[in-house]
Parts: sequence; C-alpha cells; structure tokens
Amino acid sequence: MDKSEKFWQEKIRAKGLRLTRQRKEIIQVLQLSEVPLEAGDIHYVLLENDVDLELSTVYRNLQSFLQRGIIREIDLGTGVRHYELNTGEHGHHLICMGCQEIIVLSCPLPRLEEHLSQETSYEIVEHRLNIYGFCPGCREKRQVK
Ligand SMILES: [Zn+2]
Ligand SMILES: [Zn+2]
Repeated sequence: MDKSEKFWQEKIRAKGLRLTRQRKEIIQVLQLSEVPLEAGDIHYVLLENDVDLELSTVYRNLQSFLQRGIIREIDLGTGVRHYELNTGEHGHHLICMGCQEIIVLSCPLPRLEEHLSQETSYEIVEHRLNIYGFCPGCREKRQVK
C-alpha cells in the first residue's frame, strides 16, 4: 500500500462523498492493514482508537465505498466478506483454515494467461485463485491433539 492517506481522501471527495471523520478513520484502518479485513475487524480497531460508531455504520460506509470503487470486496471462502482498498493492483491470498490468517501473494499467473491466450485464441479477462492451508501455529496445534 504505497498510496498516501491524502490520495484516498481526495478519492472519496472525487467520488462525491463527504469526507467525514468516520470515513477517514475507516480508510485509515484499511490503509494500515496489510491484509483484507472483515467489517468486524475494522469496527474493532476503530473502537480501540476511541472512534465510537456502530457496526452498522461501518457496513454502510463500506457499501458506499464499494459502490464507488474505492474499496474491493473479496470472498476468501471463509463465509465472511473481506474488504481492501482498491489500489488497482492484482494479487492473491493464502488463507489459514485454522485461524483465518491471510497472506497476500503476488500473482504467479501472467505467463500462464499469455500461453493460454496463444494456445486457445481466447481473450483472457480474469482469474481467481485462493490458496488454503494451515499456518505454522495451527499446524503445531493440530499435531498436539
Ligand atoms: Zn492458523
Ligand atoms: Zn493473479
């Protein structure tokens, strides 16, 4: 995440949203996180930072951001939607099935796409890839049992 706080604040204004303290704070939480977050995670961090707002308000603001392309919604197959700033960069996720820790991966597939396109004459539009496993901590716990 190399885009500045200012960049996102300008983006909110440019998309016709009022830059409220709550919106600023939500964007900041997403910006400081290296991984996609659930609405509940964002709410928790805000409360820790003494920003007093309801979870439903977090959801409402996330929807506004989503509709305007400021953030992206990601389905990691964990049953809960995650959100991240829409930086325009493309990547993938490695997800622990035990504790749901997420690691962001760079995309290993551009060459495969190119190859496929040549092979099949398809115009490749997108691909989706999540990788699942158990992190070192969860592996250890599973062995102890
Ligand atoms: Zn884990
Ligand atoms: Zn990719």
